[in-house]
Amino acid sequence: MAGALPPPSPCVFCQIAGKSSSTPLLHSDDKVVAFQDIKPAAFRHYLVIPVEHIPTVKDLQRRSEDYSLVLHMLNVGQTLLRKDAPEAEQFRFGFHQPPFNSVNHLHLHCFALPFIPRWKHIKYISLGPLGGFIEAEKLLEKIKPLSTNAS
Ligand SMILES: [Zn+2]
Ligand SMILES: [Zn+2]
Repeated sequence: MAGALPPPSPCVFCQIAGKSSSTPLLHSDDKVVAFQDIKPAAFRHYLVIPVEHIPTVKDLQRRSEDYSLVLHMLNVGQTLLRKDAPEAEQFRFGFHQPPFNSVNHLHLHCFALPFIPRWKHIKYISLGPLGGFIEAEKLLEKIKPLSTNAS
């Protein structure tokens, strides 16, 4: 039955981060790329993803490598939104936690509010210990290395 099964689907976000991507990138460096969410849920809705394939927030650990990656993702998102939507009501940054994530490649949702339509926020609120959406700042607290010389 060779050829009966479709090939394993390549990760869409790895493709976007790849060199031959046709997706317009808002930002790219050797660690992360940023682009617009294909289904924007807010006035501005960007995604920042690591170039390296990291599946979910559960794969991040309390170590400086992961901490600085997430911090960099957040900084890129903040810089883009401040530039593109200085008039926004508010900015929000966070991650879906499994099983609420839609794509298994770590991605930071960056919103310049208001949400459009307004009820969309339901998808992006924290569900506490059950998971749901985790604010970028909360995630950073969780993975912040315990012994650090950073002041
Ligand atoms: Zn990927
Ligand atoms: Zn998501």
